[in-house]
Amino acid sequence: TIGLKLAHLPTGKLRPEHIQKTLISLPKTPRLLLKPRYISVDPYMRTRMQPAGYDYIERWAVGSPLSGWTLAEVIASNGPSFKRGDFVVGHLPMQEIVASDGQQLTPVPEGSDPEAYLHPLGMTGFTAWVGMQRLGQPTAQDSVLVSAAAGAVGSIAAQLAQHQGANVIVTAGRADKRAWLHDKGFKSVLNHRSPDYIEQLHDAAPFGITLNFENIGGRAFTTAIESMATNGRIVLCGLVSQYQTRNPRKSPDNFAQLRQKNVAVHPFVVPDYLRYWDAFQQFMQPLVVQKRLAWKLDKISGGLDSVAPALIGLLNGDNLGKRVVEMP
Ligand code: NDP
Repeated sequence: TIGLKLAHLPTGKLRPEHIQKTLISLPKTPRLLLKPRYISVDPYMRTRMQPAGYDYIERWAVGSPLSGWTLAEVIASNGPSFKRGDFVVGHLPMQEIVASDGQQLTPVPEGSDPEAYLHPLGMTGFTAWVGMQRLGQPTAQDSVLVSAAAGAVGSIAAQLAQHQGANVIVTAGRADKRAWLHDKGFKSVLNHRSPDYIEQLHDAAPFGITLNFENIGGRAFTTAIESMATNGRIVLCGLVSQYQTRNPRKSPDNFAQLRQKNVAVHPFVVPDYLRYWDAFQQFMQPLVVQKRLAWKLDKISGGLDSVAPALIGLLNGDNLGKRVVEMP
């Protein structure tokens, strides 16, 4: 079958030629054969191509096969656990056909929407739940800032804070994204790419941000720190604006303010929280089934050929919602 490999290590921005197709041989008698329907593209994939600085996940070297969170259909099975036509999700190699031993696969329960397992009931929903529900724990007294809130993790995290009655301030870098957020009921919708972002933030939270759910890093994060209230807290989810730079460890200029304001910073990565997966599902499934959560897939057609452009676009901020590549 055909798969994707990292052909070159990018030093700056990812380019299409960094990712190439490659021939993959499948085992003769696999337990399961899967046909991927949607492959998730995510910002962390670019960090796997960095030479250092992101040690929580194995690095991709030149020639490494690419993999990602995938919704797949079982097309052949020689065991009782799965049958032809079942949908499964899991971290799979990016290939047209995948052979699997069935380990590490999560079956999509019959009667539920398989696409929900790409986003609110998948890894991005889990990230939002860990970061907001478990670590941030917003209350109605909080002024919560969620950056990149028209993106995958941000959109779910912001709604979880909204459900707790917090004053939720969301940001997005493009007008159509902000319109989407307004439409979903957010009152304070700011543009983190605007030169007057700091003033916008001050108007939205005159007494300061008490909980910042950080997705972006760089200038947006510096501005958020500027606006933090004393004794505030920061859930450090991601720093996407830094993933394509050569020096991703550079800290914000005003980092010292965190100590002056006694702000608690809580970094996290989801691999450390996988034992909470069932608790997450118990929490999130009712919200999805009862349609109390808005979520949107940003589908890019074109199969494996589209993975590189879809990821490049995601790192450029093109997506509205959770970006996935649709397989033919
Ligand atoms: P998104 O769907 O949010 O897409 C990324 C968004 O970031 C873009 O749409 C863009 O939105 C925004 N952005 C802002 N500035 C930049 C910039 N300079 N370069 C590129 N993009 C920028 O992605 P995810 O929801 O998947 O991820 C959000 C964050 O969560 C990331 O930082 C990611 O690494 C992190 N994450 C962390 C995990 C963890 O375990 N801690 C797990 C999964 C994700 P806009 O147009 O609004 O600027």
